[in-house]
Amino acid sequence: MEEVILVNKMENAVKQMAEQMMLDSNVCKCSRCLLDVLAMALNTLPPKYVVTNIGNAVTSVDLDSSQWKANVTMAICNAINIVKGRPRHS
Ligand SMILES: [Zn+2]
Repeated sequence: MEEVILVNKMENAVKQMAEQMMLDSNVCKCSRCLLDVLAMALNTLPPKYVVTNIGNAVTSVDLDSSQWKANVTMAICNAINIVKGRPRHS
């Protein structure tokens, strides 16, 4: 039997999109702020768990639903604004 793992596709999608959106924003891009944005966005979005073969762990995120993508974009956007206004470091 092939080894399988549990993957939260929402987490992968948010990681990909947040990095790109932070590059396009003037928010601080240190790892602390990146992780704060990820945590905040993921806490407001429903998880999307799938079981996948370990070889397929980096499956492409299905952004087929534009409404779903809009929700993710909005959650990341809100998180970036919060972190931009109040970075959790000096
Ligand atoms: Zn920072």
